[in-house]
Amino acid sequence: MKPLGPIPAGFEAIDGELAIGGRPVSGWAEEAGRTPLFLYSRDRIERRFAELRAAMPEQIRINYAIKANSFAPLLTFVSTLADGLDIASGGELEMVRAVGFDLSRVSFAGPGKRDVELEAAISAGVTLNLESEAEAGRAIAIAERLGARPRLAIRVNPDFELKGSGMKMGGGAKPFGIDAERVPELIRHIVDAGCDFRGLHIFTGSQALSAEAVIDMQAKVLDCADRLAGEADVTLPKLNMGGGFGIPYFPGDEPLDIGSVGAALEQRFTELPETLAEAELFIELGRYLVGEAGVYVARIVDRKVSYGKTYLVTDGGLHHQLAASGNFGTVVRRNYPVAIASRFTADAEEEANVVGCLCTPLDRLADKAHLPRAEVGDLVAVFCAGAYGASASPSAFLGQGPAIEMLV
Ligand SMILES: *Cc1c(COP(=O)(O)O)cnc(C)c1O
Repeated sequence: MKPLGPIPAGFEAIDGELAIGGRPVSGWAEEAGRTPLFLYSRDRIERRFAELRAAMPEQIRINYAIKANSFAPLLTFVSTLADGLDIASGGELEMVRAVGFDLSRVSFAGPGKRDVELEAAISAGVTLNLESEAEAGRAIAIAERLGARPRLAIRVNPDFELKGSGMKMGGGAKPFGIDAERVPELIRHIVDAGCDFRGLHIFTGSQALSAEAVIDMQAKVLDCADRLAGEADVTLPKLNMGGGFGIPYFPGDEPLDIGSVGAALEQRFTELPETLAEAELFIELGRYLVGEAGVYVARIVDRKVSYGKTYLVTDGGLHHQLAASGNFGTVVRRNYPVAIASRFTADAEEEANVVGCLCTPLDRLADKAHLPRAEVGDLVAVFCAGAYGASASPSAFLGQGPAIEMLV
């Protein structure tokens, strides 16, 4: 037996079946016409924003990093709740344009921006979070050619990291951002070139569950921003403090205590240095906002036994749920929260391995899970599927194609 990750609180059952948006998942599967499908709950997303806003100091603005989930209806909905959107490619710029979001509230980070992407962003009034001096040079030259005044912020590669973070994106040599010690000179260059300097962006990592680590990181971000602005002799119009708020995926994971994080920030905000006194203060989050709102539902196609072990073979798999399969940035495979959705309230009575339909041993959704006995036709739910599911999985692999997505 291998434990399953914790099912996020607040999911209910109707007639013994997992329900979402007030309806059993089999009803949604019927409406969709096929499985697998992703179901994203409006209510859960809305509640998450409300809880977060209640915990954070009032002046904190919340950006949504759309790479977590850019399904158009979800993006449209989230864009009514978020203060800004963070994008990381020209393709994502087209997505936020398509949902009609105010592009002056969009910022564009990410290494390797092509000239066409810089041009599209500058023309649209999107803020560029510059990832290198060379990128700054190209952006300024393109803006001159366009006769535009570019909105430029600098992404800092700070000299610290987010402790305990699943994916580190700052501290030491990195492809992201500009090393802190070189930032003041670039600020001066941007200001002297007559660009609209939009402040700093300091993103250090992702998927942190320790409030202490997040509090420590945020304190260092504020100190670092103050020091760099001071050295450049500017005040910051805006500081994007990064995010990194994680969600529990695996056995033993505990939810991040956002109350403590908010209280510590509130305390820091009472004594902000002059360089930050006028700054709009942002955090940027992806998975924390939408991850637990999503459920991936696949149908059992075959039930088989091999050398005494039971396999539930589904019509889903890693082509939609790369992270749950254990192949997206994990070293040791652990089980996500998984359930037999069509027997959600039934007692567990057997050990089963839930796998996908791809012809590769990598395609596993739950190993040695303790589950109710399930048959062909039953539905399996993988939780925490609202972020980095459909948007981060190789749906073309083996010619399978994408899952259906529904905002419910
Ligand atoms: C990916 C990313 C995010 C979102 O990370 P989550 O773990 O989903 O919160 C935020 N900012 C930047 C710069 C990113 O690259």
